[in-house]
Amino acid sequence: MDLKIAGREPNSIVDGDGLRYVIFFQGCLHFCKGCHNMETWNYHNGITSSIENEVDLISKHIGFIDGITISGGDPFFQYDSLLNLVKAIKQNFNLNIWVYTGYTIEEIKANKQDEVLNYINTLVDGKFIESLKSPHLPFVGSSNQRVIKIN
Ligand code: SF4
Repeated sequence: MDLKIAGREPNSIVDGDGLRYVIFFQGCLHFCKGCHNMETWNYHNGITSSIENEVDLISKHIGFIDGITISGGDPFFQYDSLLNLVKAIKQNFNLNIWVYTGYTIEEIKANKQDEVLNYINTLVDGKFIESLKSPHLPFVGSSNQRVIKIN
């Protein structure tokens, strides 16, 4: 299955616990004021990849990384690809998965996109709200955003 990504960061310490391999999905329609990733908004930009290719690239970092983070953009705008990617990561690697989204967990459940929650360990939810911006909070940009342990 194909997916559109903005890029990858194999050695991040700011996108979750430990040293993490991060995949940034392309596309976001939340349009948060003050967004630092505006280049990820347009789905038609970015790189076309596949689940198989992403799994193959991750496999080269096994032994070095503590987990996988899927960010964006907002990966829930490519929900089928997100679901298939987290399933493939869980099938192939013993790694925890964090997912970032501009939706709240309540909106994800209302949108019937919550099957993905069965395969991930942590959801970081909510839009970036500039008036609630804080540089002191771990792993989030504004105080409304929550780091929710799922499994
Ligand atoms: S959800 Fe994230 S990528 Fe999307 S507009 Fe908001 S801050 Fe930017």
